[in-house]
Amino acid sequence: MKEELLKKELVHISHKVYSRGLTQATGGNISVRVPERDAILIKRSGISLGEVTKEDALLLSMDGEVLEGYGTPSKEYRFHLGIYRTRPDVQAVVHCHPNYAIGFACLGIELPLPTVTAQKILGHVPVAEAAPSGSEELAYFVTEVFEKYPGIKAALMKDHGICTVGPSLEAAYNIATLVEDTANQAFIKMQIQASLPQLSKKEVMK
Ligand code: 13P
Ligand code: ZN
Repeated sequence: MKEELLKKELVHISHKVYSRGLTQATGGNISVRVPERDAILIKRSGISLGEVTKEDALLLSMDGEVLEGYGTPSKEYRFHLGIYRTRPDVQAVVHCHPNYAIGFACLGIELPLPTVTAQKILGHVPVAEAAPSGSEELAYFVTEVFEKYPGIKAALMKDHGICTVGPSLEAAYNIATLVEDTANQAFIKMQIQASLPQLSKKEVMK
């Protein structure tokens, strides 16, 4: 897809991530490969995903140099580039801060996969270690988890959020929604399980 179209898609998906409540304030960042330029488009730093416009999509070389656009690229550009380097199949990366997934991420627990859909589509969602936002250390930990588990579509980021990947922005977005809905379902399951001793079997089966 050409650069202009990719910019439009980056704007569209940024707005969807925000309006679906997968992130808050200025949290989260999104990028996509521009194969013709051997570069990526990535969101400008400090702008809310709900407010992103085409001008906020900066073209970045695979070495992290700004080739086109004004402002500073997302502070997480290092882990986006790290994932693209380690995973040639990945065309897009979505990083966001969804509440239920973050609950598991803060505990350092791999995402439980209670449904057959999550098991089939997500397979395995490991946890990347914690480090400050925008740090080289965080980029190392996130890249490391995508290297260690080849083929994963998503990772939780300890004390921070999630990172999902795909063959397109739409695909990476869909994985982010599935990760968060799965975390929500896992949480509901745990709550029901916790209240089971108080319920009779007959009540549970109703
Ligand atoms: P940016 O605004 O620099 O993209 O940072 C947001 C974020 O989620 C940091 O982890
Ligand atoms: Zn973040």
